[in-house]
Amino acid sequence: LLMAYDPARRLAKLQVQIDRAVVNAQMIYALLDTQPAQRETPDAKDLVVTEARVELRDVVFSYANGGQILRGLNLVAEGGQTTALVGPSGAGKSTIINLIPRFYDPTEGQILIDGQNIAEVTKTSLRRQLAYVSQQPYLFEGSIRDNIRYGLPTASDADVEQAARLAYAHDFILAQPQGYDTPVGENGITLSGGQRQRLSIARALVRNAPILLLDEATSALDNESEAAVQKALDVAMRGRTVVVIAHRLSTVVKADKIIVMHDGRVVEEGSHAVLAQRKDGLYARLNNLQAPAIGIEI
Ligand code: ATP
Repeated sequence: LLMAYDPARRLAKLQVQIDRAVVNAQMIYALLDTQPAQRETPDAKDLVVTEARVELRDVVFSYANGGQILRGLNLVAEGGQTTALVGPSGAGKSTIINLIPRFYDPTEGQILIDGQNIAEVTKTSLRRQLAYVSQQPYLFEGSIRDNIRYGLPTASDADVEQAARLAYAHDFILAQPQGYDTPVGENGITLSGGQRQRLSIARALVRNAPILLLDEATSALDNESEAAVQKALDVAMRGRTVVVIAHRLSTVVKADKIIVMHDGRVVEEGSHAVLAQRKDGLYARLNNLQAPAIGIEI
């Protein structure tokens, strides 16, 4: 078991996944917590979170090999609220999610959490405040317990179980042949898509971080799993600052704020009620006529 938490071994094993992880904003917590901090300023201080308000200020960004993806982007995700990013494919939504944990740094502009520039704080303290749930829940080789604990290697068994309960995963876990010790991954049992998602939500919950980055799944689950996953997500989102790449109309409608992106800029923002009223606005037009064009499924 100790070996399983040896960072070097984990890194070696996950080497193949790292690049993909960065590209897809697949935030693998084990890596986040052990990866040596890069480009940390010598006098970096620990991030102090009070409200967990996230702000992107005049952010310009290009990937090394390409053109400008974000073109002077401003947005605020208020503390404890849900901010939904919508916009056509390629608008830059995942890029925003990549910048918050500092997988990449903006070319220009700043990202602030509670007024502190994230480029000037220690990466460990920054990432400790973040949890991530990806579209594609990734399971590591190991037990169900290990898989949840990847969210926070220091979590106790009781913490793991508590996270699983909150994620509506405890019951199906107990129904497995060896409960929490049941192996999953390539050499283990096969879990359904909804069960994998709930494990990935439990993995995020065990971190108990104030900021949740969420890339909403587009692939449909059957109704029963869908309801369970949705309930788990509702728990995970409650009381947290959530930045969600939203693909479902229900998520967008419920969000405190919708940020409509197009071509690396924010073209509209507001609640669903406000934006839907603005008949000549992009959101109202797209929402009425062709929701899929802004990446939303109805
Ligand atoms: P989608 O809804 O399709 O995920 P998105 O709004 O999330 O789209 P991004 O994934 O942020 O958009 O991509 C914006 C642009 O950046 C796209 O043109 C994409 O090809 C490019 N891009 C994304 N990741 C990388 C990368 N790691 N290196 C180079 N270019 C990238």
